This record gives sequence, structure tokens and C-alpha cells, in this order.
Amino acid sequence: MRIYNTATRQVEEFATYVPGLARGYVCGITPYDHMHVGHGRVYALFDMFRRYLESRGYEVRLAINFTDVDDKIINRAREEFGSEAYRRWRDVAERYIAEFFELAGRLFIKPAHAYPRVTENIEDMVSWIARLVERGHAYVAPDGSVYFEVSKVPGYGSLSGQKIEELVAGARVEPEPGKRNPLDFALWKSWSPGEPWWPSPWCPGRPGWHLECVVMSAKYLGVPFDFHGGGADLVFPHHENEIAIARAYFGVESLARYWIHVGYVTVRGEKMSKSFGNVVPLRDVLARHSGEALRLAYAMSHYRKPMEFSFELLERAEDIVRTLYAAYDELSQALADAGDADREALEYEKYVEGFRAALEDDFSTPEAAQHLYGLARYIISTVLHRVDRISRETAMSILSKYVEMADVLGVLERRRVPRELDDAIKAAVEVRARLRQERHYPLADYIRQRLASIGVELHDFGPRTYYTYRRRPPAS
Ligand SMILES: [Zn+2]
Repeated sequence: MRIYNTATRQVEEFATYVPGLARGYVCGITPYDHMHVGHGRVYALFDMFRRYLESRGYEVRLAINFTDVDDKIINRAREEFGSEAYRRWRDVAERYIAEFFELAGRLFIKPAHAYPRVTENIEDMVSWIARLVERGHAYVAPDGSVYFEVSKVPGYGSLSGQKIEELVAGARVEPEPGKRNPLDFALWKSWSPGEPWWPSPWCPGRPGWHLECVVMSAKYLGVPFDFHGGGADLVFPHHENEIAIARAYFGVESLARYWIHVGYVTVRGEKMSKSFGNVVPLRDVLARHSGEALRLAYAMSHYRKPMEFSFELLERAEDIVRTLYAAYDELSQALADAGDADREALEYEKYVEGFRAALEDDFSTPEAAQHLYGLARYIISTVLHRVDRISRETAMSILSKYVEMADVLGVLERRRVPRELDDAIKAAVEVRARLRQERHYPLADYIRQRLASIGVELHDFGPRTYYTYRRRPPAS
């Protein structure tokens, strides 16, 4: 597979440090407000990336953090709780972390392997800072804050492709009293009244954002790891600073080998952001549309390009998802009509190969989605009409390849059986087979009907019974 690496500004062959294992870190949310469609895009795209790696046989280890203490959280708590904020800021973080899990579930995003939180890793962060100070990469300001000294690491600016002079000239860096250089950034922020704090050798306070992600990614994945991802707005200063810290601390060239960034979501051409007042909450979209339709809409834009969001786009995606289900449902039903031998050759492989080739080439989900949709239409227009002219093996193979493609994009998720349910269904199928053997047909049929009422369809195939499953869409 080839993938664009922001660090080298090139499409590169994807190879992991440990063969067969892909370790990745995606910067998570700062839980202070509702997630919007732009957040959903980042996590859905990395979920598809992870699923594709898994389909290629990789074991994937993925960490997504929560920046669960931050100025934005504290400010939000002050708005809501006034003078109680210093005791209740955690309520804000917990509320939006809970929303993250709820909405990620409705978007069928597979759970990460670790969800490290800043507040659970502060001791590690303090010891990192102590070491950086000791080695002369960081200095303590008069108020007890600790700053990272950017000029002490080679190659600062390499990720964002900017020279130090240009960065200094840019207005994007806030000068703060006590900094030696405007590009230096806080590793430890001194405490102000009313804010949460933790003890440190320098002053009570809390860690800085850039340091947090380096410490957590290093702790959960090891350094260097394979890919580091996030939204495109994190390239500078966040990821640039993460790399600088890792260079200083470990002496490595980079924290991660591939830096992968997902583009913005726009509405009528404007970037979705609070300052433009055009934010579409993820919750509102998922109240009107299935998680699969939104995933498909995400897949229809290349991850590096801006994605123009609209509800018309969602309507179109919803139509396509209906077609995808129709192909799946009807081909599952038609399996029983397949013959014993292939009397005709069907040309479905080109969709399977096209799908894979698209993802191999810088993860082109728009083309991949077209091949999936192409195969769905081919199933409906051709395979279903000729199913009696192909063997059961071929029919099963078409269905399973189709399902594998859909599973990478995560767009036929309501046919996936939760693991606990799978055992229960298999037990019911087994009992039904016994009943049929003993000619208790009414009872066997009753089991079939009851399973159908919860979305499980049985397909008898000679002595074997397969089942397909279709969950009802989650209530909004
Ligand atoms: Zn981060």
C-alpha cells in the first residue's frame, strides 16, 4: 500500500517497523463541547484505514487519547458552574467523553485498543519534563512554567515545511512572558486561581497539550511507532511540537514514521468551525441518517481533500446504502437457487480488484466506494438473474467478497452480528436442525419465524444452514 506522508510530502510505500503489526495514534478530542461532522470524519476515516490494514492481515494497535484537562474545559465549566467550576470541571469532560463513545458507536467505529487520558498520565509527564530540563531542552520561567526550547532541536519546522524565521514572523504563535523565543511552547503551565493543578518540582500546574500526546503515544505504543494521525489543522503547531519533543527526548528522527492528516469539512465552501458559525453537530446528522450513510459520505471524499458537507449528500449516500443492502439481502436469499456447477463465467472480479487497487493507491476511498457500488449493481442486474447458472461456491464467493469490501468501509454494519448474539443464534440453529431431523416441522418453523422477527434470516443449503442478520437502525 502507498500512503501520503505529511513528513516527507510524498506518497510512500507503507511498511511497519514490526512486520505484521501496525501501531497508530490518532489525536483525540478535547471534551468540552459537542462533536461535529469534522470530528466524525477524522475518526471514521482512521477507522476505515484500520479496517483496511486488518483486512490485509495486519494486527493493528490503535490509541486515541482524550485531552481531558484544558483551558476550554475549564472555561466551559466556569460558564456552567460559576464558582463551583474548580470542583466540577471533570463533569464537563466526562459528559463529552461519553458522547464520543456514543456517537463513535453509532458511526460503527471499532473501539481503539487504548484511550489514554491526560489526567491519568500526569506523573509520567512530570518525569518527562524533568528529564528535558536536565538535558537542557527546556527551561523554567520565573513563574514556574516550563518551556521547551525549540532552537535546541535540529530540523524544527520539517513537518509543516516551514523555516523557523517564517514561523516567528507568522502571527500564529502567542508571545508569553517568560519565553526566550516566541516559538517555545509550554511543557508545564503554572497554576492560576480556580484551575485544577497537580504538584511538580517547579510549581503547581498542569502539562501542555503537545507534551501530553507524545508521552501518551510513547507509553502505549513505543517509539518510534508506525503512523500518527489527526485533522489537518494539527500539523502546526501540535504535531510539529510533538516531533520536536520526541527528537529531544529519544534522539529519534521522528515520533512516528507516517504522519497522516485528514482534511477539513466545509459547508458551502467555508471550513466548518465555530468562528464561521456553520458547525453541524454530529448528533444532529445521526438523528436523521444512519451511521452507514454518513460513513459512505465520508468515504466519497478523498481523505486529504476538503469534504463539502450537505444533507443532500447524505440523501444520496442513504440511497446508495439502500442499494448495498438490497444486493446483500437478495443475493443471500438467492444462494439456495445456485447450482452444482458453473455453467457461465461472471465478471465480478474486476470490482474486487478495483476496490483493492484504489485503497492501495493512497487510500482512495472514493474510488473504492464506486467499485463497491458497482459490484452491488452488478449483483442486482446480473448475478441474481443467472444464479441458477453458477455454483453455490461461486455464489458464496461473490457474497463473501462483497461483504469483505463493505466491511472495510463499514457500510453494511447492521448485518454484523454482535459476538454474544452469534453464539445464541448458532445454538438456535442447532436445535432447529435436530427438530427437523426428528420431523418436528411446526416447531422448527416457529424457530425460523422467531429468529426472523429479530432480523436473523436462515438459509438452508442442503444439510447446512447459513444465516444472515440485519439489525434495525438504532433509534435516534
Ligand atoms: Zn495530539
